[in-house]
Amino acid sequence: MYNYKALNIKELGDLMERIGESRFRASQLYRWIWKRGVTDIDKMSDISKRVRNLLKETGYVGELKLKAAYPSKDGSVKFLFELEDGKEIESVFIPDRDRKTVCVSVQVGCPMGCKFCATGSLGFTRNLKSWEIADQVLQVQKFMREFTGDKELRITNVVYMGMGEPLVNLQEVKNSVYTLNSHIGLNIGSRRITISTVGIIPGIYELSDFDRQVKLAVSLHSAIQWKRARIVPVAKAYPLHKLRKAVMHYFERKKRWVTFEYLLLPEFNDGEEDIRALEEFVSGIPSKINVIPFNPYPGASFRAPTDREIDRFVKRLQRLPHTVTLRASRGGDVGGACGQLAKFHPGDLRFVKI
Ligand code: SAH
Ligand code: SF4
Repeated sequence: MYNYKALNIKELGDLMERIGESRFRASQLYRWIWKRGVTDIDKMSDISKRVRNLLKETGYVGELKLKAAYPSKDGSVKFLFELEDGKEIESVFIPDRDRKTVCVSVQVGCPMGCKFCATGSLGFTRNLKSWEIADQVLQVQKFMREFTGDKELRITNVVYMGMGEPLVNLQEVKNSVYTLNSHIGLNIGSRRITISTVGIIPGIYELSDFDRQVKLAVSLHSAIQWKRARIVPVAKAYPLHKLRKAVMHYFERKKRWVTFEYLLLPEFNDGEEDIRALEEFVSGIPSKINVIPFNPYPGASFRAPTDREIDRFVKRLQRLPHTVTLRASRGGDVGGACGQLAKFHPGDLRFVKI
């Protein structure tokens, strides 16, 4: 049995030909699946009964199963989805005026094991398929339309910042971008799609040749090699000087500014020598710096910075010529903030106190 949601428009065209139909029928089916979010083949009213019956015989339209939605006080909503094999992943909806962003997962767990990340502490189970990545956006849009009563609500932006590392599942990630991008589907512009990586160098080179203008975000967290390697184990294989070259290459190819994400871990990476190293690392790279205050989760070995520490750090970074932004934490009360995605239910969330 085919899962029609897992096929791209060309593959659907081939399938239509095989069942004796013209290829253009594929776009009808694709629209039903990715624009209207319909899974019941009988509801696809502009497809003839004969073709519908054939489609039902050879396949089905898969769907992530929504297990729970946790609305946060700040308007964001955390989602728990079950995959066809029973595994679970999370996604987050983040509204900000006209912008409606979905943060998607790309893996069940994550193999990178970063020391400050709840997902990393889970270990790795498997990669997601491209349809499983794109379907998170479709399902969130569908849910939010019902939840808000706004039938026209559209997801405008997608960030690959949920569970997992996109650049070690790059083929599926690229295919999911094509799906999100499709004019006859969700129609999300590639400039509104951000892929965040922990710094997988071969992946950055491959993304430089990708035929879509997605934004790149690099999780730097420290510009001092030994420090970075302590919290990001993969930094040993992909050291800073090579990472810098890869990012420069990306910029030269794409002419798109890169964002460096800098997790603020108080008393670990917020000293004068840290700022100096950061200054040197980013100098000459057209980029901006996004400071992310550490979000605690059960069992975390770092503490959250105080408001004063955040303020002080951001102010001190202002001597750099780069734009520095502070990521307002969203969804923390439901475990939906950065680094908290690890199947904790809100009731389980105990914030570590120091
Ligand atoms: N694997 C990718 C994308 C997912 S993580 C990456 O690492 O970039 C998305 C962002 O959340 C990264 O910048 C990551 O460093 C950050 N993050 C992870 N744990 C966090 C935590 N506990 N608090 C705040 N941000 C965290
Ligand atoms: Fe994986 Fe990113 Fe978490 Fe590191 S920060 S463990 S790469 S999800």
